[in-house]
Amino acid sequence: MKVKIACVQLNPKLGQVERNIVRARQLLAQLKGEVDLIVFPELALTGYKFESRSAIEPFLEPTSAGVSAQFAADVSRQYRCFTVIGYPERTQDLGRSDVIYNSALLTNPVGRVVHNYRKTFLYEADEDFGCTENPSRTFEPVEVILDKRYYSADPSPSPDGSGDFKRTSVNFGICMDLNPYKFEAPFNKFEFSLASFARRATLIVCPMAWLSPASPSLTDETADEKARAAHIIHERFFANEAAPTIDLDPSSRSFRPEDAEAHERSGRPFVPSQPEYSTVNYWILRFFPFLNHPRNELPKHYSNVAVVACNRTGLESDVLYAGSSSIIQFRNVPGNTHITTRNPSVSVEGALGQGAEGILVREVEVD
Ligand code: GLN
Repeated sequence: MKVKIACVQLNPKLGQVERNIVRARQLLAQLKGEVDLIVFPELALTGYKFESRSAIEPFLEPTSAGVSAQFAADVSRQYRCFTVIGYPERTQDLGRSDVIYNSALLTNPVGRVVHNYRKTFLYEADEDFGCTENPSRTFEPVEVILDKRYYSADPSPSPDGSGDFKRTSVNFGICMDLNPYKFEAPFNKFEFSLASFARRATLIVCPMAWLSPASPSLTDETADEKARAAHIIHERFFANEAAPTIDLDPSSRSFRPEDAEAHERSGRPFVPSQPEYSTVNYWILRFFPFLNHPRNELPKHYSNVAVVACNRTGLESDVLYAGSSSIIQFRNVPGNTHITTRNPSVSVEGALGQGAEGILVREVEVD
C-alpha cells in the first residue's frame, strides 16, 4: 500500500518544551494535503543532551501520558494520521526507584497511543542522564492498520470488500539502535535491521538525534577547544537560524550519488542546505539485509519496504547533529555490488539538509 509520510526535522532547545512545541506547530502549519504518518525526532520536545539525571528529571514523562503523548495525540487528531515522537519516559515498573527510558510512542488517527517503544541500544549521552536499556532486546514490530478508513466513525468497507483491513508490520528503532551494540558487536550482525527483516517489518520508523561527523564532541581535542569549535559553528550556522526547508515535492531534490561522492571527496564539509550524504549512505548500509547485493543471500520475502530516518538538527553544547532526515525506499529489484544509493534496490526518496529545520513529505510503497 501507499503511505504518505511527513518527517519533521526539528532543532529543539534543551529543556524549552513550550517553545519547542510552538516551533513544531509552526513547521506543521506548512504541511499541505493529507499524510498518513508524521514522524518527529528522538526526544523531540525536550532536547537530548542532558548532562545528568537531575538535569532531565523535570522533563521526564509518564509512560504514554505526558506532554509528548498529548502533543502527538493532538497532531494525530488534527491531521487524521499516525504520529511518532521520541520522549524521555519515566516508569516505576521495577517497584523501586523510577526507571528512565529513551522512548518513542505511536498515536493513531483518533489520537490514541497504540505503541510505546523503548530504545534498546544506548548511546553514551543516554547513560549520562541515567537511561536504562530496553531489557527486551527483540526489536519486536507492531501490526498496525494504516488505512484511514478504519478509523472513521462510519468505516467504509475495506478495499477488498471483506471487511478486513490490511495490517502492516511496523518497527521502531531509535538512533543508536541502528548501530552495532555499544559499537562492540560485529558490524555485520545488523541486530536491528536483521530483526526487522526476520520479523517481516515493512515500515521502519527511526526517530534520531544522530551526530554529524563534524561534531566537535567527536574530536579528541580538549574540552576548551571543543567548546571553541562549537561556538564558531554556532555563530556561523545557527545564530541566525536558516529558514526551514519545506520539501513537499517528490521531484524537487533527488539524492544524487554523484553529489554524495563529491561531498565525500571534499572531506564531508558541513553545508547546512545539503544532506550529510555519507551519514545517509551509512544508514542505508545498516539496512543491508534489505539490500539486493550479491553478498546478501537472505531470501527476499517482500516487494517494498520503507525506512523513515527522522533526525534532529542543531547544536547542544559541543554536540552537532547531522539533520539529513531521509525517507528511504527498498525494493525487491535486481541490485548490484554497491552498498550505497548506487544500488538500484534502494532509493532515497528525499533528504533534508544537515543544518536547518524542515519537513520532508514523500509517498512510499510498503507491503
Ligand atoms: N551513534 C549515533 C550517533 O553517532 C547515536 C546517537 C544516539 O543514539 N542519539 O549519532
